[in-house]
Amino acid sequence: MNWPDNKKFAFTVFDDADNDFLTNTRPVYDLLSDLGFRTTKSVWTLAPRFETELTGLSTEDAAYLEWIQSLVAKGFEVGWHGARCHGSPRDETIKALDLFRERIGHDPVSMSNHFQNEESIYWGQERLSGFAKLVYLLANFRGRPKSSGHREGSVFFWGDHCVQRVKYIRNFVFREIDTLSVCPFMPYHDQRFPMANAWYASSEGGDVGDFNELLKEENQDRLAERGGGCIVYTHFGKGFFENGKLDGRFTALMTRLAALGGWYVPVGRLLDYLAEQNGGVHPIGWEERKNLQWRWLSSKLRHGSS
Ligand SMILES: [Zn+2]
Repeated sequence: MNWPDNKKFAFTVFDDADNDFLTNTRPVYDLLSDLGFRTTKSVWTLAPRFETELTGLSTEDAAYLEWIQSLVAKGFEVGWHGARCHGSPRDETIKALDLFRERIGHDPVSMSNHFQNEESIYWGQERLSGFAKLVYLLANFRGRPKSSGHREGSVFFWGDHCVQRVKYIRNFVFREIDTLSVCPFMPYHDQRFPMANAWYASSEGGDVGDFNELLKEENQDRLAERGGGCIVYTHFGKGFFENGKLDGRFTALMTRLAALGGWYVPVGRLLDYLAEQNGGVHPIGWEERKNLQWRWLSSKLRHGSS
């Protein structure tokens, strides 16, 4: 891949909104910004209506919204992580999308499903087909997420808005820093999923431990040498800033990465560029889909990846 501006490789992050309380994530973004990274921070537009696990602030909080808008002004992308931290019926998801547009300035370019939300788009077993789906069901993953955002007739249906208003949705996550080496044809469209405009893959960095393992020195060097492309899946609210300070290893790894000469743009910008290079969003073929879902499923069976 030839990267713009003679950059050697590409690196970005899609940060899921879970456990984001501003006090713990703002220092992470201060560091990223100072180092020259411009990544994607997802938000919930609406506050929760009841207490739930996997929660965090939303753009209903004035101080949080002000901070999110300051990230936009600096060149970060704001992505969609669902209307709120628990399931929302159709009218509320549409209201949340409208508010997102009003507060951020445009519809979400990229998104990821939030684990426990019923309005998720093609999530859980819905991501798979054929024998892989059967194996997934037999493995009976604990807390298997519900997913009916794409089902017309469900109270959680918003797929018609999703396909029109959201460009890219995260699908499979792999334990490999060079996301592009696993999914060289992303962003891709899957005709089995008509309510999803296009999909992207990511690399596993769900919390500070996984992130630091993914970004360890030899992996950074390999990514740079191969001229690869990395989109990390993470939650910057999970352990990156604790007891009043940033994780030292994380700070050191990001400082090192910043000096390697990569292209550090948000997820949407990176995927737009890849689509351009590929002559548009790639229609995934049967063989490509089979390889991708089996590689993901075997990793999930071994490690429980996302
Ligand atoms: Zn989430």
